[in-house]
Parts: sequence; structure tokens; C-alpha cells
Amino acid sequence: MGLLALGTALDWPDAKKAAGQVREWGIEQLLGIWRKAKGKERDALLWGDEVEYLVVAIDDEQKKVRLSLCQADVLKALAKDQALAGQDVTVPDLQNGVASTGALPTFHPEFGRFMLEATPGKPWGIDFKDLLAVEDDMRLRREIAKAHMGLDEFPITLTTFPRLGLPDTIKPDYPPSGPALRSQFVPDEIANPHIRFPTLAANIRSRRGRKVELNVPVFKDKNTPSPFSDPTVNYDMHNWPEDDDVRNGAVKQDCVYMDAMAFGMGSCCLQITFQAKNIREGRTLYDQLSPLGPIMLALTAATPIYKGFLVDTDVRWNQISRAVDDRTPEELGEKPLKNDRWRIPKSRYASNSTYIAQDHRLRREYMDSNLIVNEELKQKLVDGGMDDLLATHFAHLFIRDPIVIFSEDLKELDPEGSNHFENIQSTNWQHMRFKPPPPGADIGWRVEFRSMEIQITDFENAAFAVFIVLVTRAILSFDLNFYIPIPRTTENMETAHIRDAVMKEKFWFRNDPFPKKRTPKDSPVQSPVLNGVSEPSPWTGSSTLQNDAQGLNGPIDTPLGPVEEEYSRMSIDEIINGAHEGFPGLIPLVESYLDSVNIDIDTRCRLAVYLDLIRKRANGTLWTGSKWIRNFVRTHPEYKGDSAVSDKVVYDLFEAVREIERTQGKKKSTGWEMLSARERPRGLDD
Ligand code: ADP
Ligand code: MG
Ligand code: MG
Ligand code: MG
Ligand code: MG
Ligand code: MG
Repeated sequence: MGLLALGTALDWPDAKKAAGQVREWGIEQLLGIWRKAKGKERDALLWGDEVEYLVVAIDDEQKKVRLSLCQADVLKALAKDQALAGQDVTVPDLQNGVASTGALPTFHPEFGRFMLEATPGKPWGIDFKDLLAVEDDMRLRREIAKAHMGLDEFPITLTTFPRLGLPDTIKPDYPPSGPALRSQFVPDEIANPHIRFPTLAANIRSRRGRKVELNVPVFKDKNTPSPFSDPTVNYDMHNWPEDDDVRNGAVKQDCVYMDAMAFGMGSCCLQITFQAKNIREGRTLYDQLSPLGPIMLALTAATPIYKGFLVDTDVRWNQISRAVDDRTPEELGEKPLKNDRWRIPKSRYASNSTYIAQDHRLRREYMDSNLIVNEELKQKLVDGGMDDLLATHFAHLFIRDPIVIFSEDLKELDPEGSNHFENIQSTNWQHMRFKPPPPGADIGWRVEFRSMEIQITDFENAAFAVFIVLVTRAILSFDLNFYIPIPRTTENMETAHIRDAVMKEKFWFRNDPFPKKRTPKDSPVQSPVLNGVSEPSPWTGSSTLQNDAQGLNGPIDTPLGPVEEEYSRMSIDEIINGAHEGFPGLIPLVESYLDSVNIDIDTRCRLAVYLDLIRKRANGTLWTGSKWIRNFVRTHPEYKGDSAVSDKVVYDLFEAVREIERTQGKKKSTGWEMLSARERPRGLDD
């Protein structure tokens, strides 16, 4: 999460009154930042990953795992440790027994008081050696985190705690139904106590006019009651007006019901941020990575359990989306518009809805025709000199209210600052984020790739990080074109939730990723220019989306066919490994990028191990975390075939997860491969 400034946070009615002012000031700050940084050139190609952990306390006597609310203690212990003060140090290379020099990792707070986030001490650079350093750095982060915890506490990279929301699952224990979350399942103490977090949760709830509502379809196993009514729901609670939610139909049949931000924002993910050499390259990366979001979500699927039940989905995304969905009944379309300005199709946590690159290949037809834009603020950006496309992007983010406002920030505008801009930007959780340079720091335009689920092992997390980095290099080197219409990406995001989507579903993807020669006649597909970074053609547009189709289509000479013929539905295997005809596959594209650059054999071989994981995930040789966890539960002797995941099953699951971590710590990929092979099911119709 972004800002952690101290101050007096406004309750919702007051925050609502100040929302317009925060937006106006945010737009002024954005214009200031953009004016200063739009001409920034030749920034280094830097990138960095973020790994999030659950911290659990394992009770071997009771054979029980609980979430440990120890975030503050761990961060305090880390901060005290002088060795971690951020200076350059010698980092042991755990794989090869040699030492390399780098900055020690950095740890950050997160929404859940049982969560930690860790990043490299400084961003990685363009060197291929950095790609090979990530895994060791991740392992080091885990070791350092563990060393600052209690003996019974462990950092675990599972997306969600399988029994979150059930009694006796957090340590120390607190009763549910606090004033901020008003959840009947989790206490307020589950959230980071910094005023920003409880305020965020409380104000989202107030703005909505009821609690957030998460209904995840239960996985119907052979003994699961049908119809299924969530047996953990209490219909007789009367502490808060919101306790009426469940009596007013908030709980859906055949679903696991959850009612608080913690069920979403308490999930762990793997994010990768890239710095582009200039704003134009950043805008290109933002667009080209966007269609990959749902593909990588499905490929990293790791979330088959909620609140003690196997569910019929494999990923976390929509649950977080619902956990922070602050839309009112009017905005949701449940009531006619009266007090609110728009019907808003998506939660503020959702797949992204804009393309922003000044690229002649960006066709008008790719844009989201349902896009809601704050037209007044867009006009201010355009009047301030920003082009239509980028102004549209930000004016779309600025349809949202700021949720947490500190009264101190309303006294005067710091035109050189970014606090009001970041207030809106950092609470628009889309699957891509376009990050402008922060004022006063020597940082360039960055793009964040946010859809991936955290993986059980550092090997896998490193593999996915490395893969995405290599894909960005291939995109820039070959000037690849992955454009599809935004609504198709939105649709793909839904598809990614389906159980075993990685093997069973098809996703919209562009057939031909190579740039076309821009000659008057229809030209053959140009093969990739190895080594060369082709420059996108100059952008002419001062167009608006509504009025000027030519502007978006740019000065292309080749007649364009129907958009629908540019893309088709492909399996993840076809997208990653290549279709027999047509799409070459992301791995082959990365391989030809690697062929085109000078790297030594050893580096190439070590990268190949990572690419192999991606390849095998996509073709089904290796399982997703979701599939493995689901199978672990279903084949556990204590599982009764009724979807319920007991304490003992969770205890054994965490033992198995820690064992995988230990094994692969020594043997790299093999631990995971062996384990997933050993656990292959016999006779499960899955
Ligand atoms: P947020 O939580 O807002 O996404 P973080 O501060 O946690 O952002 O950083 C995200 C990642 O960006 C980290 O891995 C960090 O190393 C990396 N990073 C920091 N500066 C840069 C930069 N200039 N270019 C690319 N990545 C960067
Ligand atoms: Mg985070
Ligand atoms: Mg963050
Ligand atoms: Mg972060
Ligand atoms: Mg998070
Ligand atoms: Mg981030």
C-alpha cells in the first residue's frame, strides 16, 4: 500500500465533503509532476519485485496453525537490526556458496497485521546477473524475516490463510464485530493498526452503505450438501446496523460468504515494477503487458480455499475486488442515479480499463466503450497540455472518491507534492499501474504488473519475476504487439478464475504479435529485428476518442481488417508455448530474444530452468499451486469429501508447504517437481 503519513483521518461524511478538493488538488499535482517529468529521457532499465508473506504461528502440540498478528514486532525487530539499515553489504549466495554484493532487502507493512512485504534493497538493473540474483535474494528475505520472528512463527507465501474468518485462527485471539470492520467473522485487530487501514475499511463500508460482500462458489465435492448454505454465518447478531446485511440477502446460496476487507486485502501477491527509459516507453509497456495480466493470473493460480472451504475458483483476484468495492447501490445500478454521478461497471480493484500508448497500432476499437471518465478533470489535464489518451487514463482513475483523507493535508496545497494525486492513484488497484516519477527523487516513469499470485517457493516466485522481465525485453526489442480490445482482457480476467483454467479454458489473445511493415500494400509479417529496438512511429494525435477515429488509428498506411480477425481464443499452453499455426508463444519469443543478445552459457542455462517451469506449468506437466493444494486437501485421510478444510488438514498442508520450501532451497526446482509428481491423484475426476 502507498501512503503511510500520520495525521487525523476523516470519517466518511467529512471525507466525502472534502473529496472534490482532494481530486482538484490531485490533478494539479499530477500536472506538475507530468510537466516536469514528461521530457525525462534515458532512465535506466530498472525493475523490482515485491513478495508478500503470511506470518503463521504453528502449534505442534495442538497440531494447529494460526495467523500471527506480529507484523509490528517483526518490523520493529528488523528496524533495530543495524545490519539492515540499508547499507550495501555482502550477501551470501546461498546456491553457489559465493558472495555477491548488494543492498539488503527491505521490509514493509501491509494491510493485514499478519502480513509482511519484502522487496530487494534496491531495484535490479539491466544485467542478466540480476535475473539470477533474485531467487537468492528472495530466499535471503525469507531467512531474515524468519530470524526476526518467534521460534514458532514462519513467513509463508500462500495467497490466503485457508481458515481465515473461523474461530481461534489468529494469535493473539480477539473477538470479531469491531467498530471499523463490523465483520461477524474477523476482529478489527486483524488489520494493521495504523489509522490509514481501519479508516480505509470503515470508509469503504460507509460509502457503500453496507458491508462489503464476498460470495465465492463452494467447490461441490461428493459429500458437500446441495444446496449448500454457509454454516458459519450467524443470522442472530445485533451489534451493528450492518449485522442486518445477512438478514437482507447478503449471503448467496452455494457460496462461502465473507464480509470484510481483510478477506481480500489480506491476500498475498507477487508484483513486478519496471522503470522505462522515458514516458513513451512506459506507456508502451503499460499497454503491451496489460493483455498478459489474466494469463499470468491463471498460470500462477494459488487460491482454492476460503474460510475453511474448498471453493470452485482458483485465484484471489475477484475476492479482493469485492473486498474493497466501495460503490453505492446507485453506482452499482441497483437504484436509479440520484445522488451519484455515474453507474460504474468495475470495482476500484479491477482489471485495467485504459490503453495509454501513443502507438499507431492502438486502434480505437481496442478501447473500452464503457469507460467512465471525469470529464471536468480531464479537461483540466488537457488544458494543462496533457494529450487526450493520458488525460483519459487519469480522469478515469479520478472518478473515484478518496477514501482516507487526513485533515492536516487539507490546509494548503503543496503544488510540488504528490500526496493528493497518490491518494487517488494508490487506491485504484488495477492490474497494471502507471507510476509517474515521485517529485524530488531521481526515479523515472514506471509500470507495475500486479496480477500474479504469490507462489509457495522462492524458486517459483523468481521464475515468474524473471519471465515477466524477459517478456518486457522481448516486447521492446521486437516491438511486439499484443493489443486486443480491453473488454476481452476484462473477460479473460473472469476466465482466469475458473477452476483449472490453465488447462481447461481458452483466453482471447492476439494472433500475430509482430509489427507490420508500414507500406501501402498489405505486407507480409515482418520477422523480429534481432538486437534492434525499433522506435514506435511518431504520434500525431490531438484527437479525442469520441470524435476522431483516425487519430487513434494513427498514420498507418496498411488497410486494417476487422478487429475481430486480429485475435482468437487460445489455451494458456498455446499462448505460452506457441500454437501450431500462428501465434509463436511467449516462451519462444523470449528464447529468440535471448538468442539475439550476448549471454554466457551458464547464465542461459540457469535462465532456462526458470523458463522450463513456466513452460511446464502452461502445458500441465507441473501443477498450479491451486491444483496442488486442492488435491492435497482432497486426498488427506481426514478430509470427508464435504469441502470443509479442517485444522488438521491445514496443519499438514503447512508442514508440506514448509517441506517444499526446505527441499527446493537445496535442489532448486526439483523439490516442487518431485512433490507434484508424487502427489499426482489416482482416480480424481479433477
Ligand atoms: P508499491 O508498494 O507502491 O508498489 P514499492 O515501493 O513497494 O512500491 O516498490 C515496488 C518495487 O519497485 C520494488 O521492488 C522496488 O525495488 C522497485 N523499484 C523501486 N524504484 C524503482 C525504479 N526506479 N525502477 C524500477 N523499480 C523500482
Ligand atoms: Mg504489497
Ligand atoms: Mg505497496
Ligand atoms: Mg510495495
Ligand atoms: Mg496486498
Ligand atoms: Mg506494488
